[in-house]
Amino acid sequence: MSYTIFCDFDGTITLKDVGKTLLTKFSRDDWQYYDKLVINGEIGTREALIKQWGTVKANEQEIFDVVDQISIDPSFHSFFEWVKEHNIHFIVVSDGFQEYIEEILEKEEIDSSSMDIRANNVKIVNNSLVLSFITEECEHGCANCKYSHVLDYKKKGNKIIYIGDGLSDILPARELADVIFAKEGEDLAKKLKGDPRVIEFSNFEEIKTILEEKIFN
Ligand SMILES: [Mg+2]
Ligand SMILES: [Zn+2]
Repeated sequence: MSYTIFCDFDGTITLKDVGKTLLTKFSRDDWQYYDKLVINGEIGTREALIKQWGTVKANEQEIFDVVDQISIDPSFHSFFEWVKEHNIHFIVVSDGFQEYIEEILEKEEIDSSSMDIRANNVKIVNNSLVLSFITEECEHGCANCKYSHVLDYKKKGNKIIYIGDGLSDILPARELADVIFAKEGEDLAKKLKGDPRVIEFSNFEEIKTILEEKIFN
């Protein structure tokens, strides 16, 4: 049986959500209003991201000064080494931006070129952020459609292990995953409470232990 692990980045690999941290510092608008609209199902995350980042005024140095303060879960290092040693297919799916993900991984001395990362892209032009997306517009209104990335592998007959924490993880996990690791106390865990596929976790050491025992033994 062939397994693929899909893993969210913000708040899952990192200890803090990078996007929310940047918006809190640099947005000149009530960015949380658009999150509420997403939670209520009134708009998708693509529209929300465009609105939220559209009001940010900052230069590259200011953005990366904040990004450089973000740490990853220390247990991710040994988890990712274990993934590579066992040739386990591992894909990062993020509704954040490729540019800060690579920056954080490099700072943490993780070779980002050895990782398959599916995320949005951003360019800073005259202190404004210009976003671009790697998936087509979808019926869910996603910025980066995590569902479509996972579906590709599901269709090829892969078993899906999904690791995440937030709102953008609910649909791919609920509809497509065989095993779900949901960060304890966060939105994904709350929304899927009682689902027999869900295992709540607080760090990657716990995930590794369970996967070693149950799947990759
Ligand atoms: Mg997240
Ligand atoms: Zn979608």
